[in-house]
Amino acid sequence: MIRQLFKFKGGIHPPQHKDVSTKQPIRAATLAKELVLPLHQHIGESTVPIVAVGDHVLKGQKIARAKGYVCASVHASSSGTVIAIEERPIPHPSGFSATCIVIETDGEDRWIENTSETTPYTEMPASHLRNLIRTSGIVGLGGAGFPSYIKLNPAGVEIDTLILNGVECEPYISCDDMLMRERPEQIIAGVKIMRHALQAKRVLIAIEDNKPEAYAALAKACATEGFEVIQVPTLYPQGGEKQLIKVLTNKEVPSNGLPVQIGIVVHNVATAAAVHNAINLGKTLVSRVVTITGDGVAEPCNLDVPFGTPMQHLLDQCGGLRDDVDRIIMGGPMMGFAMHSIDIPVVKTTNCILAATKANVTPPSDIMPCIRCGACADVCPVELLPQQLQWFARAKEFDRAQEYNLFDCIECGCCSYVCPSNIPLVHFYRYAKTEIWAQEREKEKADQARLRHEFRQSRIEREAAEKAARLAKKKAAAQGGGNAKQAAIQAAMARAKAKKTAQGNAPKNTDNLSESQQQQVNKADEMRAKAQQIAADRRAQAQTAMVNKTVKANSDNHTAKDEKE
Ligand code: SF4
Ligand code: SF4
Repeated sequence: MIRQLFKFKGGIHPPQHKDVSTKQPIRAATLAKELVLPLHQHIGESTVPIVAVGDHVLKGQKIARAKGYVCASVHASSSGTVIAIEERPIPHPSGFSATCIVIETDGEDRWIENTSETTPYTEMPASHLRNLIRTSGIVGLGGAGFPSYIKLNPAGVEIDTLILNGVECEPYISCDDMLMRERPEQIIAGVKIMRHALQAKRVLIAIEDNKPEAYAALAKACATEGFEVIQVPTLYPQGGEKQLIKVLTNKEVPSNGLPVQIGIVVHNVATAAAVHNAINLGKTLVSRVVTITGDGVAEPCNLDVPFGTPMQHLLDQCGGLRDDVDRIIMGGPMMGFAMHSIDIPVVKTTNCILAATKANVTPPSDIMPCIRCGACADVCPVELLPQQLQWFARAKEFDRAQEYNLFDCIECGCCSYVCPSNIPLVHFYRYAKTEIWAQEREKEKADQARLRHEFRQSRIEREAAEKAARLAKKKAAAQGGGNAKQAAIQAAMARAKAKKTAQGNAPKNTDNLSESQQQQVNKADEMRAKAQQIAADRRAQAQTAMVNKTVKANSDNHTAKDEKE
């Protein structure tokens, strides 16, 4: 039966240049003296080192653990000693440096002991399979680097179709083509595991019709599996998930949505081979096939490369660079980006190292003004308005760019490719996306800071209220006790006063006196009365004298004053 295929809008037919690197079989890259393994080689959060400088590690040993849900562990890609954990340049358009674990290889390339389970994958629960794939550090090897175990979790959605993506539509890149030709059994074994994890009803394997050897190899390898291997007409960017789904099923993934929402999951062929290695052989992801190509390198080929190998080391194995090399690009000419140096390591997302001459790429100096020809919109596979998006990005009108679905742009480069003014349109979209992400991060940070502040304020207010309540309670208790004490003191004072009064009024030693004693007492009382009278008279005389003296002094003062005036 001939399967009906569909077409997505737009697309281009750039020269392929794939045969440049497919003339010889995949060979193993020689081991570099130093491997530089970035902690962050995938989409999502960075990993956390679990080794220290001086530690000896074995090939396949986990050296950085995943942190968070969207993350993938990093493993030593050969045996040796950790000689540094420090900032090193990583593959990034901006020439960034980031934390890397540096291993000095010992030349033995000795694997860690295989402790994989003997249980067949068909008897393992899907969650266990996903966990094994997660701990093996597997990410999408088509170039995106999204942790694969997440895409193997349909989260309750029934999966109708698992699509294996062997399209590899970007010019120059041939690593998937060579893998399909040479290791089809590994790929099919991996697809079977993926299908089991997803419980997918059917499997479609898509290969562009410019790879007849790969098609034949895969078709043969899965002849008894019931998988459908489909040749699709060569058209760039057919390897994009949404474009391939459209071509094979005529279904469209919603804007800002994911294929799983329409019951479809797409995985790359190299990812399937990595899943087989992890589940059936117990080998973590430590290497990948990389295409070394372009007119700027002497002997283009495909190498099986341990992660962390410097690009310079690989280019040397391919006869070195030619004199007319213009730039080194990681990825293809459409979606790749130029490296700032060749002393940069191969990571999980490195599918190609393109040593481009001036003839291979459009010189950036030829940029001219937009002539509003509309060619960019005609080829956009996502049906965007590239020219408008470019204006919004230039004017920093990021809200408007988002209204025009900037984040649906897959950065395929078709618009830039056809632009007669050589405007690097994709650069503007990447710039706008980066700015929007940065603004969102800032907003998130500000929101978190505001939440922290509000929480702190409410805590301070709560503590103050609690303290005030405690003090009020204490004061009330103190007042209650104080009143009782005051009352006791006053009662004691009243008692003392009453006693004193009683004592003052009572006759002293006057009980049972004889007559003569009584006479003496009477006499003494008379004398005391007289003495008291005399003392009172004297006090009165003294006061009278004092008054007279004061009156006289005032009278003198007034007289003197009058005289003076
Ligand atoms: S292809 Fe280039 S020149 Fe033509 S409309 Fe688009 S941006 Fe402008
Ligand atoms: S880079 Fe974006 S805007 Fe340009 S053609 Fe591709 S999807 Fe469309």
